[in-house]
Amino acid sequence: MAEGQVIVGLEVHCQLDTKSKLFCGCSTDYRNDGPNTHVCPVCLGLPGTMPLLNRCSIEYAMKVAKALNCTVLAESEFSRKNYFYPDLDKAYQITQYDKPLAEGGYLEIESDEGGEKRIRITRVHVEEDPGRLVHMGNAERGRYSLVDYNRAGIPLIEIVSEPDMRSPREARKFLNKLRATLEYLNVFDSEKEGSLRVDANISIQGNERVEVKNITSYKGVEKALTFEITRQKHLLRRGQKVERETRHFLEARGVTQSSRSKEQEHDYRYFPEPDLRPLNVQSWVKGIVLPELPDARRERFITQYGCSLNHARTLTGDLRLANFYEEVVRPDMALAALADTWISDTLIGELNYRDMSIDMVEPASFTGLLGLLRGGLITDTSGIEVLRVMLDQHLKGQPCEKPLAIVDRLDLRKVTVAETTGTQSEGSVPDLNPVIQSIHEVLAMQPGAVEDFRNGKKGAFNFLVGQVMKKTRGCADPAEVNRLLAEELKKKEE
Ligand SMILES: [Zn+2]
Repeated sequence: MAEGQVIVGLEVHCQLDTKSKLFCGCSTDYRNDGPNTHVCPVCLGLPGTMPLLNRCSIEYAMKVAKALNCTVLAESEFSRKNYFYPDLDKAYQITQYDKPLAEGGYLEIESDEGGEKRIRITRVHVEEDPGRLVHMGNAERGRYSLVDYNRAGIPLIEIVSEPDMRSPREARKFLNKLRATLEYLNVFDSEKEGSLRVDANISIQGNERVEVKNITSYKGVEKALTFEITRQKHLLRRGQKVERETRHFLEARGVTQSSRSKEQEHDYRYFPEPDLRPLNVQSWVKGIVLPELPDARRERFITQYGCSLNHARTLTGDLRLANFYEEVVRPDMALAALADTWISDTLIGELNYRDMSIDMVEPASFTGLLGLLRGGLITDTSGIEVLRVMLDQHLKGQPCEKPLAIVDRLDLRKVTVAETTGTQSEGSVPDLNPVIQSIHEVLAMQPGAVEDFRNGKKGAFNFLVGQVMKKTRGCADPAEVNRLLAEELKKKEE
C-alpha cells in the first residue's frame, strides 16, 4: 500500500424492521408516539424479568448475513456488555461478542478506478438498541437531559467491514450498496429517522487510526471522513502525530471532536448472557431463501431492457427506483430505452431539486409522458417542462393533470413545417409556419449576429438557433430549426 494512502473501515448499525422488539413484545413503531410509551418491564430492565428472543429478528439477520456472502455460524451466543450510561437502563447491553451470528463475507461496490471491488465483511452480529437521550439546550452546556426508552430493545444488526475502502467516496458507495441490499431483503427501512448509524475507522497509511462515532446519515459519512482525513493530513504535514482516539462527529458543524470517553474492550467485562441459551441455527439457516438482489437485478436490466451499465447501476441501486422503472415500462416495452435515459438523466435530478422521492411520481403518468415523446408530439424541451409541471402540481397538492392535458393547456405541441404547408391554397396569402416566422423575426432583430455569421464568426449560428428556440418556447425540433435557419440565411445572401 502506498504511503499516505487513506484507509477506511466501517461499523454499521441498522435497525431491523421487525414489528416487535428483540427481547419483548413492545411495538417498534414508536416514532410518532410520546416518550416512554413503548416500554415494558423487560425493555425497562426491571429486576426479575427475562428476555425472550424474537425469532423474526434472527431470520432477518440471517438473510442479511447470507446476502453479504457471510458464513452463518451453526452456533452463536449472546453476551452482556456492561457499562453505565443513562440510555442503558439495565446497565448492560445484550449483544454478540466472541460468537457472532456470521463471519467472513463481502459486498461488491464500484471502485474509484471503475470496475467492481470487493469490500470484505468481518462479521455480522445481533444486539439490542439502547434508549435515547434528549439534551435540553446543547450537549455540552445543556441544563438537563431527558431519557426515552422507546428505542431500548429495538433489534439492531452490526455489520463490521475490513479496512478495505480507500476514500470517503468508496465509503459512501459501500453504504449505498448496503442500504439497497437491506431494502431488497425487506428487512430495513432507510426512511425511518435514526435507522442507520455508522462508526468509521480512519487512518493514513503508516499512522495511528481514529474512530469517529455517531454518524447518523449517509451524507454525514462522506462529510465526516473528508473532514477527518484533512485534519489528519494537516497534522502530519506539520510534523505532528495522529493520536489514537475516539472522536464524535458533530453533524450540524461538519466537524469531528475528541471525546473524553476512553473505554477499552476489557472495561465492558463481557460475559455470556445467562438468561439466553446459545443460538443454534444449523437447520434453520438452510431454509433461508434470498430474493433477487441489486447485482442480479442490474444484470437483468442490462439484458432484459438494454440499459447501459451506468444507468442500470443507478436504477437498481434503489429498490423503489428499480420498481418504478419496471412499472413504467410494463405497459409498453418499446419505452424501455426512453424510460432508462429519462429517469436516470432527468427525473432523478428534478426530484432531488424539489426534495421529492420517487414514490411521489405516478408511474402511469410518467409512461404517458414518455408516450408523447416517443410519438414525436412534443420535443425534449417541452417534455422537461411537462414533467416539471407534473412534479410541481404534486408538491403543491394540486389536482394532477394528465401529461397530454398539460401539453394542450400550455400549447406545447411540436410545431413543424409539414403541419402548415398542406393547408396553403393557391392565391391566398401563405400562412407562415411559426418556425419560419420566428426565424424571420430573429433575423430582423439580430442584425449584428447575422453580420457575425457572414464574417464567419464562430458561435453566431448557434446563438441564432438559440434565439429561435427561445421564441418557439422549445416547441420546435432543434434539427429542423438548424436546417431552416441555414436555408433562410442562404436566401438572404443571394
Ligand atoms: Zn418491552
